[in-house]
This record gives sequence, C-alpha cells and structure tokens, in this order.
Amino acid sequence: RCFNFSAGPSELPLEVLEQVRDELLDFRGTGCSIMEISHRSKAFTEVHNETQQMLRSLLDIPEEYDILFMQGGGHMQFSMVPLNLMAPVSADPSRRGGGCYIVNGTWSRKAAHEAGRLGGISIAAEGDETNVPQQQDLRIPEDASYVYYCDNETVHGIEFNYVPDTGRVPLVADMSSNILTRPFDIRKFGAIWFGAQKNFGIAGLTIAAVRHDLIGRAPENCPVMLDWKSYSSKNSMLNTPPTFAIYIANLVCHWLEKQGGVPEMAKRAAEKSGALYSVIDASDGFYSGKVKPAFRSRMNVTFWLKDESLNDLFVEEAAALGLKNIRGHRSIGGMRASVYNAVPTEGATQLADFMKDFERRHG
Ligand code: PLP
Repeated sequence: RCFNFSAGPSELPLEVLEQVRDELLDFRGTGCSIMEISHRSKAFTEVHNETQQMLRSLLDIPEEYDILFMQGGGHMQFSMVPLNLMAPVSADPSRRGGGCYIVNGTWSRKAAHEAGRLGGISIAAEGDETNVPQQQDLRIPEDASYVYYCDNETVHGIEFNYVPDTGRVPLVADMSSNILTRPFDIRKFGAIWFGAQKNFGIAGLTIAAVRHDLIGRAPENCPVMLDWKSYSSKNSMLNTPPTFAIYIANLVCHWLEKQGGVPEMAKRAAEKSGALYSVIDASDGFYSGKVKPAFRSRMNVTFWLKDESLNDLFVEEAAALGLKNIRGHRSIGGMRASVYNAVPTEGATQLADFMKDFERRHG
C-alpha cells in the first residue's frame, strides 16, 4: 500500500481495513455483512451506542452535550448551524444578533455565506489566508446568537492556535480536519461538528456535539432532518443512519484507544508535520509555505516549489515512490501533504527524505 496524503477522504489505519476485510462476509456471527443488517438490530445498535460512548470518552465530552450522528457532510452543517442557532424564535430572545463568523479560509467563508442566506450575519474578523485573526481583533456583537469558526482550514493549511473567548455568546467550531488530533476543552464550546472522512473513518457520517441548552431552538417550520433536536431525541436513529460509516468509526475508536488516544495523536501530528516544515524551512526558498509559522496546520502541510514548472515531475516522482496525493487544492495550487492520524510517521519521514533528495537534484 502507498502512503496516502489525500486531504479527504483520506488514509485509514491498516488494522481497521484488515478488520473490515475479515468481518465483511460474516459480521460477528450474524451470517451477513454489517451492511446487510437492520439499523434496529441488536448487533448494529451495540456498535452505534458503543461508538457514541467511545467518542465521548476519547474527546472527554461531558453528559451535558449530546453526540449526534448525521449525514449531509460539512455543507449540511453550514446550514444546520444557523437554522438551529440563529432563529428569531430563539429560546433566548436576548440573542437576536445573528451568527458572527471568523473567516480565514475556504470553509469558514462558505459557512458564513450559507448562513447569510438564512439571516443576518456579522464578521468578527477576516484572515488574509496566511493567518488566524487574534483574540484582540475579534468584533463580537453582544447579542450575537453564536460565534463560528473553522479550527483547521484544510485548503490553505491554517490551524487555530487558541480557542476564541466569546464571553456569554455560544462558540461553534468546524473541527472536520483536526478532530481527535489534539486535546481540547469542549466546555468552552456550545457546539462542535466534524465530518468523519478525515480522522474518524469514511464519508457519509457527520458528527456534532451540542450542549443541551442549544438544542430545540430551531424555528417551528425547520425541516425535521435539519433540526438537531430530531437527532438528539431519537439517539440519532430518526431514520436509517449511515450504518457502514458508523461501523468504521467504531473501529477507528478502538484503534485510537489502542494507540494511546488523542494525546498520542497530538504527539505524532507534531512529529509528522514538523518533519515536513523543517525541510521547507531549510530549503532556502526551493520550497516555501505561505502560512505564518504560528498558524501552520499540523494536518495539512501546504507548500510551493519555487520553480512551478517542476510541479508535475515532483508529483510523479513522489507517486512512483508510493507517496500519493500531494497536489494542492485546485483553488490555490502548489502542494499539500495531509498527515491525518492514520498516516504513519514513516510516511511523513519518507516524504521529507524525498523532498530533500528532489531539492538536491533540481535546486
Ligand atoms: N469543513 C472543512 C474543514 C473541510 O475540510 C471540508 C471538506 O473538506 C468541509 C468543511 C466540507 O465538508 P463536506 O465535503 O463533507 O461538505
């Protein structure tokens, strides 16, 4: 197998894939695949409930937060966050200021745009796509319904290095591309959400952890499938959930526990991204990054070759060595190596060695 630096869907732990293979035709004595059994069956509900509990434990999420399993991906949460928190019939009439967005990359910009379609929003601060706006620069209306940001901007490779202090205004974060990669205190948040397809398995499952008091604020006419309450009140079994994706997430939970949990992932993320940034910084301009060092993502390492006519050769030679999917996002070009939890340290080391060798030959 190759080392896969895809930004998502992305590499899965080998042990997880092997277990999927072993259980594919006969899921734990049921005589059929997990894909073929009812979501109401005992075998599946055990997996479903255990996954919620294990995630709660891995992320240290207290009981006052509900863990919701949904579909629709990040784009659906771009709508669900405002639909659930911005409503003028909000349970809290002192919060009529709409959503307040920190915008510093592709995904926070998209989220703000989508919220703007549903009601008034304000912008707390904007980044210049190389940085994270700092606390003292945030302008948050006192009556804002919520403050929203993206903890790791996957396209540009920009990661927050602090949790914004929003006072009494609930804080909401998109943690799609760095969940389970460093410990954080969820008590500072009203809600967090993430797609599973980077650090929690495969596409098709989207998770939110929402504080109880923020559930049930959607307007009366909110479509049932877009109301967090529908998931919270039915243990995320309102309709058929993405059973296979939940099963994979379950295996990922077990894998994470065996590895040493989130603190161990944080250690590895620093090592992997550090190995790549060191090569970029030591290259004297042959490679360069645009993100200011304090905000460099530990997940998505973006960089550009000085001579962009070498881009295709760089990607081809890397792929020939089994170092796959390192081309940058089509909107910004360059290169992007995503080193999510399942990418072994060895993968990052091999990519760093290749980069040094390529520079020696072409620099
Ligand atoms: N948020 C972040 C941080 C992402 O990286 C992505 C996709 O890569 C999204 C949101 C959008 O997710 P989806 O493609 O599931 O709608």
